[in-house]
Amino acid sequence: MENRCWWCQKITKLTGEHFLKKTDTKDLFHEMFFSKGKNVDLIRYSGETFQIQGPNSQRLKLVPNLCAKCNGARSQSSDKSYTHFINSFKKLKNEFLDSNSIDFTKIYVGNWQIQKRNLYKYILKHACCRMSENQIVIPNAIVDFLDDRTDNCSFKIFFVSKLYDEFLMSHDIPSSYKSHLGILESPNKDPSYVVGWFTVFGLSLKYVVDLKHIKRFNNDLQASKSYLTKIDYSDFNFTREKKEGEEAKLFAELMTSLEYFPFKYENKLELYNLLINRKSS
Ligand SMILES: [Zn+2]
Repeated sequence: MENRCWWCQKITKLTGEHFLKKTDTKDLFHEMFFSKGKNVDLIRYSGETFQIQGPNSQRLKLVPNLCAKCNGARSQSSDKSYTHFINSFKKLKNEFLDSNSIDFTKIYVGNWQIQKRNLYKYILKHACCRMSENQIVIPNAIVDFLDDRTDNCSFKIFFVSKLYDEFLMSHDIPSSYKSHLGILESPNKDPSYVVGWFTVFGLSLKYVVDLKHIKRFNNDLQASKSYLTKIDYSDFNFTREKKEGEEAKLFAELMTSLEYFPFKYENKLELYNLLINRKSS
């Protein structure tokens, strides 16, 4: 396979974008990193739990498909806006949850319009890395947006707070996810849309990309507030004593199901009882 950067099209040595920023990883797993000899469990799609040794783990990187320049200098401002966004979101989370919205004037001081746009570019860059990994050609319209040549959005970004992640974090279960990439095909089997997301600190950043550039989505780039969707399983009433063996696997599968198909299971209580019964038998 040729080593072509999806952004600048150069054939060169490629680098992998972190799907979790190193700073986020350090924050998320802070205590465990500082207790020697311990690895960290990271639950991800398909219920598989794997371990990482530290924030430099290759497991935390996307498939290398960007050159060093595009993954560095070219996207530095959007990387910075993303890091600032996550740090501010952690502090202001409760306020945003109360109002079901993210107020960008509170996240960014002064030039919030530019920074909000940068944040969207960061999420899109992640989406493009995933598309490239799945052999999907990045639409020109997306590259034009990343390079500030257009304001037309053939993508849509959603902000979703997964309140059950709070439970996981409060029990020292890191709950960071990278979704698989959903590829929706037209009747003649052409890929038409991709959907995916990643979750960090209980916030899911979701994206839909129109590969054919037919739809013009409204991302309210000029609006100071964006809608924050909440997914709440507080009626789930979790209890958890120890996480080991079969139980841990089942739990991971359950959470993956919820993360993945949050509205699929009508009978959440039944699933929970299944979990509890497994534990006591
Ligand atoms: Zn490049």
